[in-house]
Amino acid sequence: MERKSAKLSFCLVALIATLFAFTGAQAQFPGMGASKHFAWSDKSLSPDARADLVIKELTLDEKIQLLHGMGWQSIMMPQESGPATRAISALGFIPGIPRLGIPDLQMTDSVVGVSGAGVKGRYATALPSAEAMAAAWDPALSFEIGTMLGHEMRAMGFNMSLGSGINLIREPRDGRTFEYKGEDPMLAGTLAGQELKAEKALHIITDVKHYAVNDQDAGRIVANAIIGKRAMRESDLYAFQIALKDSGAGAVMCSYNRINGTYACENQYTLTDVLKKDFGFKGFVVSDWGGTQSTVKAAMAGLDVEMPGNDSFGASLKKAVEAGDVPMERLNDMVHRVLRTEFDAGIVDDPPQPESPDAMRGFEVAQKTEERGAVLLKNAGDLLPLSAASIKSIAVIGGHADVGVMSGGGSSLVSPAGGNAVPPPPELAKNLMASFNEVATYQRSAPLNGIEEKAPHATVQFNSGTDPASAAALAKTSQVAIVFAVQHASEGMDLKNLSLPDKQDALIEAVAAANPHTIVVLETGGAVLMPWIDKVDGVIEAWYPGIRGSEAIANLLFGDANPSGKLPLTFPRSEADLPHPIHVDPPKADADHPVAKLVGAPGMIGMFMGIAPFFDVHYDEGLKIGYKWYDAEKKLVLFPFGFGLSYTTFAYSGLTVQPGDSTTVSFTVKNTGKRAGSEIAQIYASLPDSAGEPPKRLVGFARVELKPGESKQVSVPVSRDRLTIFDEATESWKLVPGNYVIRVGSSSRDLPLQQALSF
Ligand code: BGC
Repeated sequence: MERKSAKLSFCLVALIATLFAFTGAQAQFPGMGASKHFAWSDKSLSPDARADLVIKELTLDEKIQLLHGMGWQSIMMPQESGPATRAISALGFIPGIPRLGIPDLQMTDSVVGVSGAGVKGRYATALPSAEAMAAAWDPALSFEIGTMLGHEMRAMGFNMSLGSGINLIREPRDGRTFEYKGEDPMLAGTLAGQELKAEKALHIITDVKHYAVNDQDAGRIVANAIIGKRAMRESDLYAFQIALKDSGAGAVMCSYNRINGTYACENQYTLTDVLKKDFGFKGFVVSDWGGTQSTVKAAMAGLDVEMPGNDSFGASLKKAVEAGDVPMERLNDMVHRVLRTEFDAGIVDDPPQPESPDAMRGFEVAQKTEERGAVLLKNAGDLLPLSAASIKSIAVIGGHADVGVMSGGGSSLVSPAGGNAVPPPPELAKNLMASFNEVATYQRSAPLNGIEEKAPHATVQFNSGTDPASAAALAKTSQVAIVFAVQHASEGMDLKNLSLPDKQDALIEAVAAANPHTIVVLETGGAVLMPWIDKVDGVIEAWYPGIRGSEAIANLLFGDANPSGKLPLTFPRSEADLPHPIHVDPPKADADHPVAKLVGAPGMIGMFMGIAPFFDVHYDEGLKIGYKWYDAEKKLVLFPFGFGLSYTTFAYSGLTVQPGDSTTVSFTVKNTGKRAGSEIAQIYASLPDSAGEPPKRLVGFARVELKPGESKQVSVPVSRDRLTIFDEATESWKLVPGNYVIRVGSSSRDLPLQQALSF
């Protein structure tokens, strides 16, 4: 009897808990779709059929409502009534149609974590930068990152993500380099594809951005990217093509800039001819925030959704439809694309339920990403890894390493748990513009703590590095000096140059002069120049390391993690070697060149976009992007694309190449050192001369884990697409007949295995 009542009360508790969770879900996430049965609730129907059934029921106003956000106003001012009160983040919200069970779209940036969660008092994992993710060259890890992001988004009630960013690094001073995945389309597209596939599997609408050739941030809304069709198709657009094919992403965000004279969000060629027709993209195109510059032109060119406001796709779109300037057929196509994507991603059938984000899982993924993505660039005399047992004294210098690690700024910023570890002066903190991109944010993960924990018997002392002489004095009396050097980068601006700011080069020189065993740990958005490279023993590129930066960096320094990351972008020797040695700045306004008048970025918001007179950026390096430029121009580099050291060594042998529909490239990698480690083996192809291509392109890669002395045979399929070129005359891809060379090795400049192949 007693057991029975215990069982009964347990059941009651469970029932109440379930009910509570359910009503909690309704209360916290209203507008997430109703459980009522509609004709389109039938899951056996295709997403297209379900979307068409809904469209039949929609009024014109409801159709229009699904195609734009709630307006800049709702972002600036808290709403007291109306659907915007349901917004988790007013920045990215489109109200659904509750009477038909069509959910609200709740969007969040998610390039390096679920951004802006702190505004609503929520926690989200701050991942290392996207450049670090790319440096891991690890599709399985990208899938894990996507899974973690998907879970965190769902936990907070978001059903649409605004990431991944895969603009290729044509301009290494781009302030958003840290949000992107390097300079190669195959690497960037493949990794983004896995990340977004994982998010979609968790029923999140995914998005790839910023489409396209938005390759610098300074003056992004007034910049006109001039680039040849073939160059664009084989590089910047190719990255999107791969990511979309691999992930089935539901949205593509068109960028602020113009491409060959036409705004990216009203560009018929990129949006309709290439994306929708050639790539077969069935989802919807969403404008970058404030990137919609017209109604009829944009809608007819292929833009489907305006965000975050309704200047062009609200009342003006209704008017244009009523006047027949935007035919009903096109309007229905726009709405169809949104709805079919909602069904396809599963957000109608499986809306998010609230729960606390799994912080532990986030820690694990963040740490793993940093441990795999940090790149060991130099290790003279095998100074690294440090020996915890024998080291007596360590000087830790600079970069606020006593309190945290740096993050990139702008919309991708993940609210630092507990606040910025390096609080800005109050006047900057209060200034909206400054907080968006000028203020550097540090996550509270202090490398000093990690180092102290690893070496409990050593004297570990910190010096802020603001006075090089005092830093050098500490370094002189320490066995090893570790300098943390930081470079703040952010959306909405570009870097002035590729040098470390704030006289950190001089600091490193001073420390290296005082201590022959100096290690530099870089926390940068992308490539930096290293005038001191010959004077230091060790360099680790840690990028922006994320919430577990401290643990990961300490593990790498002390050998509990063996570095395996490889550069996803070239580090040049000087800016003179770049395709554009001088950065193309937005011009100053004068009588002949007035400040551009824009529809999409009014008032104060326009300031974030860098409004200036219109200007052109000529990407005349064309196909020769990143390593392809340095190869073609026969330039030496500081560190090549694909480079990265390990605490062990690897040898390559036995290349065989079997041509076919997909060419199979097989070879053996051996760990010839004394530690277990992972090697990222890279496969490049040189095309026949008649193809007119740069000397080589990446066509495949594999991450190989090896115990000391172990060998593994690796086989990598290289599909025919990877070897084709885009023929502008016929607007199609073709395989050029002739002699190809397959090259295999550990970086773009270390390819010991080669074999010819002809088609
Ligand atoms: C950025 C996008 C971002 C959007 C919403 C824009 O400023 O360019 O990348 O998704 O804001 O935060």
